[in-house]
Amino acid sequence: MLGTKVVPLIAILLLSVAAVGYFLFQAPLWCGAVTREGALCRNNSSGLLIGCHLREHKFQKLKMAFVPKAWRELNRGLWATPRDGIATLSGLGSAVSALAAVVAILVTSH
Ligand SMILES: [Zn+2]
Repeated sequence: MLGTKVVPLIAILLLSVAAVGYFLFQAPLWCGAVTREGALCRNNSSGLLIGCHLREHKFQKLKMAFVPKAWRELNRGLWATPRDGIATLSGLGSAVSALAAVVAILVTSH
């Protein structure tokens, strides 16, 4: 049985998924791929993951999403000092517990 408390939570979850999806695939943005001159491409594109009409840029954006140099830099920053490591771990812990809550909702609501 679907409890009345669970419905708003699921609505929030669906809305946030829709918002992320819109941002990744639909939002009007600039391409932002790095050109041969080392500048950022200024062509219009829709969505963070989709480049402009140039195929090379589309590929570059996808590559950035899956093998992101920026993410590696970010990851190094997360573990730079023991204090940062603890902050990262507690952040991961809260993310895991949020996920567990979602799973619990899905399991108990059936
Ligand atoms: Zn481009």
